[in-house]
Amino acid sequence: MSHRTVQNLEAQLILVNAYHLYLRPGLDIINELGGVHSFISWSGPILSDSGGFQIYSLSPLTKVKKEGVSFASHLDGTKIFLTPEDVIDIQRVLGTDIMMILDYFCPYPSSKKEARQAAKITTEWAQRSKSHLQTKGLSQLVWGICQGGVYWDLRKQSIEELMAIDFDGYALGGLGIGEPKTQFMEMVERSSSILPEEKPRYLMGIGYIHDIIQAVELGIDFFDCVLPTRNARNGTLFTSTGKIVIKNKKYETDTRPIDEDCNCYTCQNFSRAYLRHLYERQEISSSILNTIHNLHFYLDIFRKIRHSIQSNSLHQLKYSIMNKKEEGEPV
Ligand SMILES: [Zn+2]
Repeated sequence: MSHRTVQNLEAQLILVNAYHLYLRPGLDIINELGGVHSFISWSGPILSDSGGFQIYSLSPLTKVKKEGVSFASHLDGTKIFLTPEDVIDIQRVLGTDIMMILDYFCPYPSSKKEARQAAKITTEWAQRSKSHLQTKGLSQLVWGICQGGVYWDLRKQSIEELMAIDFDGYALGGLGIGEPKTQFMEMVERSSSILPEEKPRYLMGIGYIHDIIQAVELGIDFFDCVLPTRNARNGTLFTSTGKIVIKNKKYETDTRPIDEDCNCYTCQNFSRAYLRHLYERQEISSSILNTIHNLHFYLDIFRKIRHSIQSNSLHQLKYSIMNKKEEGEPV
């Protein structure tokens, strides 16, 4: 996607990942080119994720110690050791507007002992990150990430300890990773009830529309997910009446747009039949046109969510979204 396309879709903020940028192209290059805004020519707000999740999910040989985390690059196996202070310094070089502290990601399922240890180290690292920042002076916003798995007492403690350290925003990490939906929603609801109202709350990695609308009702402000873009590349398109898998033969001569209610560039100009053809031929334009539609669909839902909050009709919007037919579970 070109930045112009992303801007035309009215995206307000984009996300980069410190882990990936640290590995490639590397900090020396980004530093020489004046930070991420300058390097990628995006003047709008950028959030950088610390890469905690990626270190644990992508890297082999990950080992967490009190001092920091050691891992092997998933690209070439190079051994790397990063402290929470290093991760702050990496994001200082990136120069993003919002940076996330390094957390100790706790997978699902984890025993209570493991979850307690992960939350404890996350708090220690959060404290060290904050102390490190205070020695540097900083114009970037810094958000904490709460852990604790699906154990409410641990998660509550994690949130309270992070609030005591005092961050500009708070993220809920380690949710939406396979735990039952009831536990997921319980953690979101209870966490949201004790987080400060005046600071943003960020539910990391959540992208299903049904989860998003419920989480918004519980008080969540921020989301990030690869779902709209990854699915677009895989030919799965979101519509107001459910999902479309564009490679299906039934779309071979379908002259309708992806979604007749959508006013994105793709839907205003191209038929399902043409998009299927592009997908089948593996044309780059297939990924581009599909991504334009899926991003527009998501950003439009968020516009509707913001509008419904302002007009005090979020509940009705949620009802209409939750009752829309979904062609199977989201992928
Ligand atoms: Zn569209």
